[in-house]
Amino acid sequence: MTLLNGKALAAKIKERVREEAATLPRRPGLAVVLVGNDPASRVYVTSKRKDCEECGFYSEEYALLEDATQAELLELVETLNGREDIDGILVQLPLPKHLNEEAVIEAISPQKDVDGFHPMSAGNLLIGRPGFLPCTPAGVMELLDEYGVDPAGKRAAVVGRSNIVGKPMALLLLRRSATVTVCHSKTSNLAEICSQADILVSAVGRTKLITADMVKSGAVVVDVAMNRDENGRLCGDVDYAAVASKASFITPVPGGVGPMTRAVLMQNTLLAAKQHQNLA
Ligand code: NAP
Repeated sequence: MTLLNGKALAAKIKERVREEAATLPRRPGLAVVLVGNDPASRVYVTSKRKDCEECGFYSEEYALLEDATQAELLELVETLNGREDIDGILVQLPLPKHLNEEAVIEAISPQKDVDGFHPMSAGNLLIGRPGFLPCTPAGVMELLDEYGVDPAGKRAAVVGRSNIVGKPMALLLLRRSATVTVCHSKTSNLAEICSQADILVSAVGRTKLITADMVKSGAVVVDVAMNRDENGRLCGDVDYAAVASKASFITPVPGGVGPMTRAVLMQNTLLAAKQHQNLA
């Protein structure tokens, strides 16, 4: 079994991004908008600031109060859309319940949509045009490429169908000519489908959902989830110890997909900056 070491690859990617960013006439700029006090979101925002520092980017953070209005948030996005020194805009999700997430995502200029969540980016992915890819599934593809896992002709199962992970993951695997099955909470024969997969990606958020009997011997197993076990430790959907002994490649949690997501955000911001400066 080989570990798909996302931490190591992410460090390599960020180093490449830093080197390329240093050659641009103007350094890339990322604005991160946080609304409210969600502790996990705060952690994510802090790590994005750190990543920007590592890559030599300019970064700004906006912390809006929990009771911020839709109009306030849209006005901020509009201002950031017009800023010459800001190449990427990221609104940290989830937003407080009273705000309309879809409308906020749609308000971000597609040229600055470094999260890849705008309907324009989603449409480009669907029809195979270039565009910003959602960071997590794009990070998984980079990890597979790094370890020489070619999806072409393979059977892939993606568990989870969210707009930010499951669906784009399935489309990216399809783009690379895998035969893809997408599973979700209403899938009746999850174990059977998973056990036929050469590449199994789980993005659900349920500890030990994927047990060893659901995994084909020699399969490539990618665990996107970030859950907490009964001791409060970070873990994924996959029953790691048992599955690792059957898999050919497997991502650890932590140190697998998480760091790749962050690295791809930096790549996307670099791309946005190059396009903004007419260099790509
Ligand atoms: P989400 O929006 O809650 O989607 C979860 C998906 O899992 C849904 O499609 C749901 O099906 C499906 N599901 C729920 N129970 C299931 C079951 N018993 N069997 C099969 N499918 C089931 O979550 P998300 O935003 O995609 O995130 C998924 C996980 O990835 C979470 O743990 C999250 O923390 C993690 N994540 C990690 C990263 C990273 O950087 N590593 C980034 C993003 C997310 P329905 O559609 O039928 O409800």
